[in-house]
Amino acid sequence: MMLHVWPNALPLLAGLIGLIVGSFLNVVIHRLPLMMEQQWAKECAEFSGTNAEPETAPVFSLAQPRSRCPHCGHPIAWHENVPVLSYLFLRGKCSACRVGISVRYPLVELVVGGLFYFCVSRWGGTSTAVVWCGFSAALVTLAMIDWDTTLLPDDITLPLVWSGMIVAALQWNSGVSLSDAVWGAVGGYLSLWVVYWAFKLITGKEGMGFGDFKLFAALGAWFGWTALVPIILMASVLGAVVGIALKWSSKLREGGYVPFGPFLALAGLTAMFLGPQAILRWAGLAL
Ligand SMILES: [Zn+2]
Repeated sequence: MMLHVWPNALPLLAGLIGLIVGSFLNVVIHRLPLMMEQQWAKECAEFSGTNAEPETAPVFSLAQPRSRCPHCGHPIAWHENVPVLSYLFLRGKCSACRVGISVRYPLVELVVGGLFYFCVSRWGGTSTAVVWCGFSAALVTLAMIDWDTTLLPDDITLPLVWSGMIVAALQWNSGVSLSDAVWGAVGGYLSLWVVYWAFKLITGKEGMGFGDFKLFAALGAWFGWTALVPIILMASVLGAVVGIALKWSSKLREGGYVPFGPFLALAGLTAMFLGPQAILRWAGLAL
């Protein structure tokens, strides 16, 4: 009934859910790398036999401890944790110490809200819309974590490879058959693996990480093998432009390393918006 009166209700509801999901993803982006470090430290200690008991490190998971202001430790109340609105209401400052809150928190929320709105307005209230919402949430999370830490966690990249193949097998993603998805994943992984070893043999340096292979394999699974060339072209151009811009503005971090994952993710999202073949048409126009 409501849908007849107001046809935009469903995408708007999806957008609201996206804001809340984005708020949770901010926690994932911040904590998942810390949880991985904790895990590695634990494994190293076990391996070298220096298993220091009792465990002194605090329990750290996605649910615990409660979010706090990174500056003063003020616990963040529920009404200070409402996506976007709390940021506006607090004018971007902690209510206790008045130190600024990074604008990227509300930005991540807005981006995920916008992506969910787009998916549901394009595919309606279907399983296709739901899986593309999940795909976009995963890419935003990977892009931010890679930008911050140059890590692409297996906990996100590997499920993204599998889910792309499952979605193709279920025919929820029209136009990509199961064999397109499988060859997309294989081709995505192997092509970057070959580039990695060639680069390493020639220059002795590591140009990218294994996480990039897995992310590219995931994009191959979601869009099929025919999308691999347009996606890698777009990611490389974006990466080169941003890399040069950072170098020019001398904002490049120590070691001069620009992670590739954010550009793969951006190319993946563009492929979702336009269809991967549109990128190739653009590239054809540009060349
Ligand atoms: Zn504070």
